[in-house]
Amino acid sequence: MPNKFRPDKWVDKKAKIVGRPITADNDIHMYLHCSLCLEDIPDGVSPREWSQIEVGFTPIGLQVWCKRHEANMAHIDFEGETHPANMQRLKKTLDA
Ligand SMILES: [Zn+2]
Repeated sequence: MPNKFRPDKWVDKKAKIVGRPITADNDIHMYLHCSLCLEDIPDGVSPREWSQIEVGFTPIGLQVWCKRHEANMAHIDFEGETHPANMQRLKKTLDA
């Protein structure tokens, strides 16, 4: 199958990131929101709390889906290219 994604190829076997560093911390500068959800958001509820999204790989790329509205929010076509990615989850302590 052409354009088959191989996430295991983006990080080497020792989970060492290939290429420039890619943080596993939240480095989002601009969040995606479902415009329909934002119209219905209750007072006092943040978009983060109200959001019900799924994110996943598709045959052509990556899709963001609103579960509440069963609607596409974004579908990015990788155009057959693979991209480096950090698939690690940082361990966080619950001590505050
Ligand atoms: Zn929505």
